[in-house]
Amino acid sequence: MLQPVVVDPRRFCRDSRTWDAQSNVAEFPRLAHEFTQGALFCRVTGNTDQRGGLFLQVSVQGKVGLVCQRCLGEMRHSVEIARVLHLARNEAELERLEAQPDSDAILVGETVDLVDLVEDEVLLSLPLAAKHAEGECPA
Ligand SMILES: [Zn+2]
Repeated sequence: MLQPVVVDPRRFCRDSRTWDAQSNVAEFPRLAHEFTQGALFCRVTGNTDQRGGLFLQVSVQGKVGLVCQRCLGEMRHSVEIARVLHLARNEAELERLEAQPDSDAILVGETVDLVDLVEDEVLLSLPLAAKHAEGECPA
């Protein structure tokens, strides 16, 4: 099982650090329950914009297996995530950052677990009810 990767998110951004991992989905504490098989390549990079704002670039790619909610058979699913998440200190800052066009923000405290962050992004990207296309469930 992947161990938590706890970082100070602001220092991580200021130092332009990168964390990456390539792991079987079974190694992720929460994703292990969602997928039947597959592997994910994850990368989180810290950055600073011209105005001193801090943000994380999160990318996750891989091919995984999901359980079809209609036939309970396996279906293949591609994970392709590329997101920029601005760091907010409080609710007001979060609202301000999210109001900007094409901007996503997260509220973070002194520490962030990067494994947890990547899992959140993958879970958010999944279809609510995974199903084969209409009429395409294997008989
Ligand atoms: Zn199906």
